[in-house]
Amino acid sequence: MNEFGQTSVRGVYAAGDMARRATVPMPLAAVVTAAASGTVAGAVIDQDLVCADFDLPNPFASAVG
Ligand SMILES: Cc1cc2nc3c(=O)[nH]c(=O)nc-3n(C[C@H](O)[C@H](O)[C@H](O)COP(=O)(O)OP(=O)(O)OC[C@H]3O[C@@H](n4cnc5c(N)ncnc54)[C@H](O)[C@@H]3O)c2cc1C
Repeated sequence: MNEFGQTSVRGVYAAGDMARRATVPMPLAAVVTAAASGTVAGAVIDQDLVCADFDLPNPFASAVG
């Protein structure tokens, strides 16, 4: 998973305690952190859908390594 909540499976996003990045040694385990990651993932999902609907270049399309 990257900082945008994108997983290695296109179209599958992750947020919250279980969505920490590999570089973080432990879950931050706070409601505000979980909500923030959900907000970021939601914004990226929205961007994905808008770009798909209007056939626009997607700045997040190649974000997952
Ligand atoms: C005892 C305790 C005290 C805490 N106190 C604080 C505090 O004071 N302040 C604070 O900020 N944070 C606190 N936290 C941490 C905070 O609760 C979590 O960081 C936050 O709830 C994470 O939200 P989440 O949505 O990622 O996960 P969760 O709130 O754990 O939600 C995950 C949901 O997914 C469901 N689920 C799991 N597997 C499946 C499945 N296969 N299919 C469908 N549903 C599934 C679970 O039932 C659960 O409802 C505390 C945690 C604990 C355990």
